[in-house]
Amino acid sequence: MSAYDRNNVFARILRGELPCKKVYEDEFALAFHDINPLAPVHVLVIPKGEYVSQADFGATAPPEMMTGFWRAVSKVARDLGLESEGYRIVANHGPNGGQLVFHFHIHIFGGRQMSHGMRSMPKPGREE
Ligand code: AMP
Repeated sequence: MSAYDRNNVFARILRGELPCKKVYEDEFALAFHDINPLAPVHVLVIPKGEYVSQADFGATAPPEMMTGFWRAVSKVARDLGLESEGYRIVANHGPNGGQLVFHFHIHIFGGRQMSHGMRSMPKPGREE
């Protein structure tokens, strides 16, 4: 995976150079509405640090950052009122995972019934 690009769109949002529809912020994380929502609620949570992807975050983030970040993800979902009905979290990693913005982020999807996406995944050895 390539080096962190300090001019990626989420880095620019973190620096306040680009606007976002903020829903939560603390010392570890910033959460804001996705610009192209795929569900009634579609919020992104990003760590306040230079992490390209979930692999990078998992390998290099200090423990307090990991704890703080994941607590923020849970808090955002709870504060958005999603906990009782349920929600989905997704992290796209790298080209095969469909990652478009190379600053680690979690998608929180809620507000509707999700299809069980994994059932439609290609079976091993078959074309998609
Ligand atoms: P991915 O990297 O594929 O996990 O997804 C990146 C997500 O970032 C997409 O869902 C985009 O709609 C979203 N996105 C891109 N630019 C912005 C922006 N300026 N504000 C909010 N969301 C954005």
